Amino acid sequence: MSVTPVLSEVDSPNKKITIPPLLGASVTELTAWVQQQGQPGYRGKQLHDWIYNKGVRSLADISVFPKQWRAEVAEIPVGRSTIHYRSVAPDGTVKYLLKLSDGFIIETVGIPTEKRLTVCVSTQVGCPMACDFCATGKGGYKRNLARHEIVDQVLTVQEDFQQRVSNIVFMGMGEPLLNTDNVLGAIQSLNQDVGIGQRNMTVSTVGIRDRIRQFAENKLQVTLAVSLHAPNQALREKLIPSARPYKIEDLLTECREYVEITGRRVSFEYILLAGVNDLPEHATELAKRLRGFQSHVNLIPYNPISEVDYKRPNRDQIQAFVKVLKQQHIAVSVRYSRGLEADAACGQLRANKH
Ligand code: SAH
Repeated sequence: MSVTPVLSEVDSPNKKITIPPLLGASVTELTAWVQQQGQPGYRGKQLHDWIYNKGVRSLADISVFPKQWRAEVAEIPVGRSTIHYRSVAPDGTVKYLLKLSDGFIIETVGIPTEKRLTVCVSTQVGCPMACDFCATGKGGYKRNLARHEIVDQVLTVQEDFQQRVSNIVFMGMGEPLLNTDNVLGAIQSLNQDVGIGQRNMTVSTVGIRDRIRQFAENKLQVTLAVSLHAPNQALREKLIPSARPYKIEDLLTECREYVEITGRRVSFEYILLAGVNDLPEHATELAKRLRGFQSHVNLIPYNPISEVDYKRPNRDQIQAFVKVLKQQHIAVSVRYSRGLEADAACGQLRANKH
């Protein structure tokens, strides 16, 4: 996988000097950095251990480092956020508002199940896509998250739960494929530095022209989820205004290429909005569109947000939709979102609420 270097670099006459934050850096990069600071190389491995396993937030606290050097590097940022607000839903889902170094707030969700601990990470502060049914889009867009700000979310949940994170879904605030370099860098670090398997990661996108192909070329083992939400272009662009210039046929062609290049199936997310896109004829049209496609459809019953008056379909309507897809041999499951009571479910994430 080719990714841009983790640390921003400035040219010096002799060699490149790396600049923190240090979180998101590999053991090789950290070793190079400590050596540039005049320290022996083995301190890179120690630094890596303290950042990723011990969760150190200030270099001044690394007790295995010489006192004098600790004092010298005390102000160099590790790159951790602080928990600004934390709320727990009755189902055990925890929503965090995390404060970044420039004061912006993002949301992260920790979702425990019997065997797993899944983290739903944000990739941007806000989101520019403005999907009509999503709270994040209503709040506008501020900026991309840096690599370390994505990795930090996973470490924060891991520390708070005192349990290793097993799965990561890039389904929080933001559109991951508008921030491809940092998302790819974070995947690499989460895989190699935090130790989470790529197969346990899912990147969800609404679809940005050429970016799915670009993503595929990195030959990752992550699962790609595409937010389709409608079986045809007219309905899709009503729900997702940003889909106007990117026709559903072109999006699906790129998804087919993703399957060809990576050998992995794509999963399609489909929000169910009562009376809007959840009728049996929509299911029939969707099945026709996906026929022969190595894919899986994930139905997400709508989670209410205050700005719009869509309704969630009832169980019978949902089951009727599922039945049509199954009859057409489309692999389908229904994802009942966790964390509804904490406003932590899909589409309910928004910043600056507290
Ligand atoms: N921008 C990316 C990832 C973030 S959203 C994407 O669009 O895929 C994660 C999923 O939650 C997406 O499928 C999104 O469409 C869905 N979602 C958004 N608002 C929702 C809501 N109110 N109820 C249920 N799902 C919602």
